Amino acid sequence: MGLNFKGIRPAVLHMCKHSLILFLHYYILINATSRILFFVTGGFSLEEYFVRWWQRFCLRFGDQPLLFFTVCTTVISTVVYWLIGSFFIVLDNTGWLSKYKVQPGTNQPPDSAKLRKVIITVLKSQLLFATPYTVLGYFALQIVGGPMTMQRLLQVPSLERILLELAFHDFVYEVTFYLSHKLLHTKWLYKRVHKTHHEWAPPIAVAAAYAHPFEYVVSNTTPISAGPIIIGSHPLSIWTWVAYLTLQTLTVHSNYHLPGFQNPLFHDFHHVKFNQNYGSVGFMDRLFGTDELFQKNKSKKYWDK
Ligand SMILES: [Zn+2]
Ligand SMILES: [Zn+2]
Repeated sequence: MGLNFKGIRPAVLHMCKHSLILFLHYYILINATSRILFFVTGGFSLEEYFVRWWQRFCLRFGDQPLLFFTVCTTVISTVVYWLIGSFFIVLDNTGWLSKYKVQPGTNQPPDSAKLRKVIITVLKSQLLFATPYTVLGYFALQIVGGPMTMQRLLQVPSLERILLELAFHDFVYEVTFYLSHKLLHTKWLYKRVHKTHHEWAPPIAVAAAYAHPFEYVVSNTTPISAGPIIIGSHPLSIWTWVAYLTLQTLTVHSNYHLPGFQNPLFHDFHHVKFNQNYGSVGFMDRLFGTDELFQKNKSKKYWDK
């Protein structure tokens, strides 16, 4: 794995641009919603309402922080995954929004036996691996963040802090996901582990977490939890990150480029070509030159070849 020196500058610029867009996108969206609500209702403050709601919620359920954190994290990650996943299953089965499909005609509808296998495998992984991992994560988070006391839970981080942490987690995810994913493409691990995830080319949204248990832990849950553990994030910051990443990873596996959402071409190309685009946003691939073929072909219909 050699560093592509010419790629350092474009890689850093690409990552900075991506992080800035990510921050501004949600900052503007949330602030605009808050101001419109304030104007329409004649004084309703979304921020004050949320802080009051959160503090009531914590006082009601948060006196057992391990249980509180584990249940909320499991519910949020599972519900968000299957809500977005169901939306894309409806698109695949009805042909609705077909004009946004990257490779029209593929998986429209998906094979029902293959889809059933994906649903069962992902649900098993979420129950058997993600939940125990969240318990471990609870203890790891306290190494830097300090004890998860009621006093700490009641303090709501600012929107700016949550979004800055989101950009940081996204960067850490890019590095750790790239490295673990590249490792899964070594001959021995590909044959025994990663081949499962590559059964879908092109993929469907709910196949985002369809993987061998080893991959699910090493290349899915570990990169997601790395950023929050490094800086000891507040649960609200973690859940925002988990919801964002779930939306992002399902979108890039969906094979739909919906307006305002991430283009799935980058990861789609990986599912087709195998030795390109191991990362999530492209920073690491540019740095190590593993996106050269993609850069040459991204404007063409490479899947027809
Ligand atoms: Zn994939
Ligand atoms: Zn792969």
